[in-house]
Amino acid sequence: MFMMFQASEPIEVFIGEFAILGLALFIVWRIVVWVREAPVRPDPWDAEVGNQLAGPDAVEVCPHCLTEQPSTAWFCQKCGSAVGPYNNLMPYVQVFSEGEVFRNGASGRFRNRPLVLTGFVLIALSSSLAFAPVILFFLLANWERRGGGTKQVGDSEHR
Ligand SMILES: [Zn+2]
Repeated sequence: MFMMFQASEPIEVFIGEFAILGLALFIVWRIVVWVREAPVRPDPWDAEVGNQLAGPDAVEVCPHCLTEQPSTAWFCQKCGSAVGPYNNLMPYVQVFSEGEVFRNGASGRFRNRPLVLTGFVLIALSSSLAFAPVILFFLLANWERRGGGTKQVGDSEHR
């Protein structure tokens, strides 16, 4: 095992293991410090808006086109986006949510962030080996069309 010192083990191996353990503990400590010292972002809205959202007269809207939705809707009548509360959990309907993610990456707008692009690449690679090159081609073409690595105009409105 990792920490057990065996008599047959040379002292250099023990020192090496001890150094690796120390390095791992240092990395974990640096991650904890990094998370604790991260700047706190202000709430996007105050308590009044939060209460209005939880109120009985609040209506559900499509996150894509902001059209008002009945609470029983699975898909937006106007744009076809998946709007049901359990769309990401239901085995059959989940396919449409995933398709929407692929569509947004290939032809829609998405946040121009390295983490978002990495997520699109990973989800494309995890989809299927046959379609991954096609998805990646359209994803990178869309990314290039939207300005590549440069920050796009109106990017801050999606924060
Ligand atoms: Zn819609």
